[in-house]
Amino acid sequence: MKAHGGGTRRPFAESTADGPYSRESEMSLLESILGITKLATKIANPDLLKAVADANVQAMELSKSNLDLQKRVGELERQILRMRGLEDLKAKLFVNGGYLYIEGDPNPRCLTCWDHSGELIHVLPPITGIFPQCTVCKNFLDVIPKTPPKRGDTGSVPVG
Ligand SMILES: [Zn+2]
Repeated sequence: MKAHGGGTRRPFAESTADGPYSRESEMSLLESILGITKLATKIANPDLLKAVADANVQAMELSKSNLDLQKRVGELERQILRMRGLEDLKAKLFVNGGYLYIEGDPNPRCLTCWDHSGELIHVLPPITGIFPQCTVCKNFLDVIPKTPPKRGDTGSVPVG
């Protein structure tokens, strides 16, 4: 039972403002309850002891839900960083001559692998013959141009 008719609600949400939850505030809450428990034991008041025990249970529940929220915030933060990284990368990608390139990197990447799985697989010049083969999707690809294209070249199509 958590009903506390008109009971105070601690503003735990404010601890999200500056990043991960503060374990310190949780610990000091638990320490306060422990202190009150000791006092209640000294006074030997059964009602007070029960109230403190209830408060302790509620504090533990809050602590657990804080931890769950902290985990979730961490996951979302990591997801945002991945998405930002992907957007930054996409802004540098372009397609030319059937290959995918990253601006400033002369090495061609397999367009099929990018389309299929978002992987940037290097395509190396063939050891024999003129058509290279992707080591991952095994597709035979176009002849690798001697001069790598640039993002601003005609025939270059930006990805992002
Ligand atoms: Zn491939």
